[in-house]
Amino acid sequence: MLPSIGPPTEDEETKISREFRREARKHLKFVNSPEVERFVDRIGRRIISAAGPQVFDYRFFVVDDNQLNAFAVPGGSIYLFSGLIERAKTTDELAGVLGHEIVHIKGRHLARNSGPDPISVLSLLSMVLLARSSSGAQAAGMVGQAVAAARQASYSRQLEMESDTLGARYMAAAGFDPKGVIGFLKTLDQERALNPIDVPAYVMSHPVTQERVANAELVVKSLGASDIRPDDLDTLKKVQTIIRMERPNRDTVVTEYAKQVQQNPANPELLHLLAFAQQLKGDLPAAKRNYEQARKLKPDHPGRQRDLGQFYTQTEDFVAARAAFDRALALEPNEPLTYLFLGQMLEKSGDLRSAAGAYLNAHNLAPHWDRPPQRLGFVYGKLDRLGDGHYYLGRSYLLQDEDERAIAEFERGLKITGANTPRGQVIAEELKVLKNRKK
Ligand SMILES: [Zn+2]
Repeated sequence: MLPSIGPPTEDEETKISREFRREARKHLKFVNSPEVERFVDRIGRRIISAAGPQVFDYRFFVVDDNQLNAFAVPGGSIYLFSGLIERAKTTDELAGVLGHEIVHIKGRHLARNSGPDPISVLSLLSMVLLARSSSGAQAAGMVGQAVAAARQASYSRQLEMESDTLGARYMAAAGFDPKGVIGFLKTLDQERALNPIDVPAYVMSHPVTQERVANAELVVKSLGASDIRPDDLDTLKKVQTIIRMERPNRDTVVTEYAKQVQQNPANPELLHLLAFAQQLKGDLPAAKRNYEQARKLKPDHPGRQRDLGQFYTQTEDFVAARAAFDRALALEPNEPLTYLFLGQMLEKSGDLRSAAGAYLNAHNLAPHWDRPPQRLGFVYGKLDRLGDGHYYLGRSYLLQDEDERAIAEFERGLKITGANTPRGQVIAEELKVLKNRKK
C-alpha cells in the first residue's frame, strides 16, 4: 500500500497502527509485567467504554523508560512511559493522560492537525508501511525515524484543548475523578521547574499554559460531582514498585517501605507493599511474614490474596496458593490477571488440564491480551493437543500483530485438526480473514 496523498482514512490509520506496533516492539523496550500491562489496560478500557462507539481497536503499552512521556499513534495505539507512571500521584492522574491520548486517536487529530510540524509525522507514519517493502537496513532506519517522530508528535493548541476537555469528560463518565487532569498538569509544571534544562518530552509536546489550566478547571467544575469510584491507590503504588524495582537503586525501595511500616506497623497496605518489594528482591522469609501479617489485618482484599497466591506459587506451596487465588476470585470474580496467575500456578504444579481452564477464562475475559493464549498454546502442546496448541499460539501472534507467524501457526494447526472439525473450521475462518487483510 502506498501512502495516500492527504489525510489517511480510518482503514489506513488502523493499518498504520498495526504496522507501527509490530515495528515498535523492535525499537522500544516494554515493562515485562502482566500486572503493569493489566493495570494500564484496565484504566484505558474503562475510559474507552465511557467514550461511546469506537472505530478503532485500542492497545496500551508501557515503555520501560524513565522519561516522563506518553504518545498516541493514529488507529488505536497508546504508549505510556514508565517514568510517567512513576511520577503520577493518583490513578486519576493516569486516567487523565489516557483520556487525553484516547481523544487524540478517537478524534483523528493527527489527520486534522495543523499544529507544529504536522506533515512530517504523518508521512513518517506512512513510512512505517513502506518500510515493509524496503530492504532491511533502509526499512529499519525509516521505522526508527517514525518511532522518534511519534514520540514527539505535537498537536495544535485547539486540538490539545479538545483532548483536555473531552478526555476529562470521558474519564469522569468512567468513574475517575476529573480533578486528576489538573493534578497532572501541576505534576508536569513541577517537572519543568525541576528540570529547566532537560525538559521532559511530554512537557515539550504538551506545554502547561495558563489557558490549558484555566480550561481544565472550567471543565472539571462543569462536570460537578459525578459517580467517582474510589481511587485504587494500592495498585498504583504496587505498579510503581514493580517499575522502581527494575531500576539500579532497588534496595532503597525496600528500605523506604520498611521505614514506613516501622512508623505504621498496623497498616495492611504498607505491610503488603513492603512484602511485595521484599519478594521482588528475593527476601522470601521476610516477605512471607509481612504478607501474612497484612492478610491478618485485612483479609478481604482481592489484590492481596492474589499476591499471596503468587508468593506461595513461588515457594511451591500449591495448596496455600490455590486457597489464596480462590479467595481472590470469590472477592473479584472476573479478573483475568488472577486467572492468568492461577493458570501459572497450576501449570507449575503439573495440573495442566486445570491450567488450560484457567488460561481460557483469562483469555475470554481479556480477548485482546496476548499472554493467556500464549500460555494456552504451550499447555495444549504439553497435553499433546497440538491442533489446539498451534491455534492459540496463532492467536497470541495475531495479538502481537505478527500476522505472518500467526498464519504459519494456523496452517500447522489446520493440518493436524483437518478442515472438517469444529476447531479446523475456526482456524480456516481466521486464515481467511488474515489473508484478506494482507491484500
Ligand atoms: Zn496531547
